[in-house]
Amino acid sequence: MTAPGVVIVGAGQAAAVAAHALREHGYRGRITMLGREPHKPYERPPLSKAVLVAPEEPSLDVFAQDVWALGDIDVQSSSEAIALDLSGQSVRLADGQVLPYDMCLLATGGEARALACAPAGRPHVHYVRTLDDARRLRAALQGQPQIAILGGGFLGLEIAHSALATGAAVTVIERAPSLLDRFLPPEASAWLESGLRQAGAHLLLGAVLERIDILPLGRMRLSTHAGALEADEVVVAIGLSPNDALARAAGLDVAEGGGVLVDAQCRTSDRNVFACGDCTSQQRPGYEAPMRLESWQNANEQARSAAAAMVGATAPAPAVPWFWTDQGRHNIQMLGLPAPGLEYVRRGDPATGKALWIGHRGGVPLHGVAINAGADLRAIRPLFEQGEPVLLDEFQRDAAELRAWAKQMRGGTPPTVQPPLTA
Ligand SMILES: Cc1cc2nc3c(=O)[nH]c(=O)nc-3n(C[C@H](O)[C@H](O)[C@H](O)COP(=O)(O)OP(=O)(O)OC[C@H]3O[C@@H](n4cnc5c(N)ncnc54)[C@H](O)[C@@H]3O)c2cc1C
Repeated sequence: MTAPGVVIVGAGQAAAVAAHALREHGYRGRITMLGREPHKPYERPPLSKAVLVAPEEPSLDVFAQDVWALGDIDVQSSSEAIALDLSGQSVRLADGQVLPYDMCLLATGGEARALACAPAGRPHVHYVRTLDDARRLRAALQGQPQIAILGGGFLGLEIAHSALATGAAVTVIERAPSLLDRFLPPEASAWLESGLRQAGAHLLLGAVLERIDILPLGRMRLSTHAGALEADEVVVAIGLSPNDALARAAGLDVAEGGGVLVDAQCRTSDRNVFACGDCTSQQRPGYEAPMRLESWQNANEQARSAAAAMVGATAPAPAVPWFWTDQGRHNIQMLGLPAPGLEYVRRGDPATGKALWIGHRGGVPLHGVAINAGADLRAIRPLFEQGEPVLLDEFQRDAAELRAWAKQMRGGTPPTVQPPLTA
């Protein structure tokens, strides 16, 4: 009889990369991947970008379709897992099937956080988490509607830019007084805000939604304490809830704020169950509390770590978090994590369309933000990995010198002390 092998619950980014990595590690057992969507694993980042604006829908495959057959990976689409039995080592599916496993990997991602007064499924209300969600919004944008976006986070703002590009009239309603103020230094936030206004968006900042009334012909009236507006379509982009219900019900440890609790190697509290991607909350070396990172890079890296741990190989240490977003024609990248009380030094000028901020504590770089300067940010990654104080004036050097300096630092050579340059 064939051994049950690995059952992967979820068929998104992390699931696909983990399955592939298992084969790369030489795992020869059965791999079954269960996805409740009707699609094979696909990339989500384009859903709020190219899928909404490109003349043709771009290819979204995480891997070419033949990879599944070549890798002997059984991808079962439209298959929802509804229960996990830790002691019996099995997964129960919505259709009644029970799949035994030797090892299980949870890669269930998350759900768009719901707003009670604008539930998913109501006509003209949109959430953008799945390909089908994005296709529905794309179709609605064809009519160049008036659109209200609830939430001025990265996702809401990407959708705002995309909707503007299709000719829609866009209002963004955000409860904070400035955009992305938890993630960006104030100068970068101000630059983002002015760019969005220049692109034609109407921003209601510091505005809390109070109610939505349905008007004739499906239009909606949104009332906030900072003013009211009417819209043909409403997009809700107020965050993500990790899909940890299966783990919770099975008795696995789940973090206080949500997310399947995993260690640095993506092991859960059960030795045969691993988890990776948006559904996790990871205890990372050097950080007191477990954290949830909802990003493409995190999904990929945790997937590789989980696969390594599952075959008993040494898993790479978690990398410094990296994230990108495209805001209209601008690319923003972030390295490390923001934290209260960081001081920022700036290189370049956002008015020229290119700038880099380094958030540091006592000269130790902890958070980098690049506007159209991702290559420069990536070049100085070693400085974030080292976690040691650096000479901040060195950041002002030109791109080639900056790279050479970071390379020198990576080699462990102390930096040459030179007179500070002006920006
Ligand atoms: C619109 C959008 C834009 C984004 N843009 C960026 C970006 O610019 N930069 C960036 O870094 N990140 C971006 N992200 C985030 C990135 O795509 C996610 O972090 C990544 O997809 C997480 O991968 P995952 O495999 O953990 O989860 P997912 O990709 O969500 O996959 C989880 C899958 O599991 C399935 N599933 C859940 N429960 C079950 C179950 N019980 N049984 C079977 N299947 C189940 C789900 O249906 C889903 O298909 C974006 C995300 C979205 C939605």
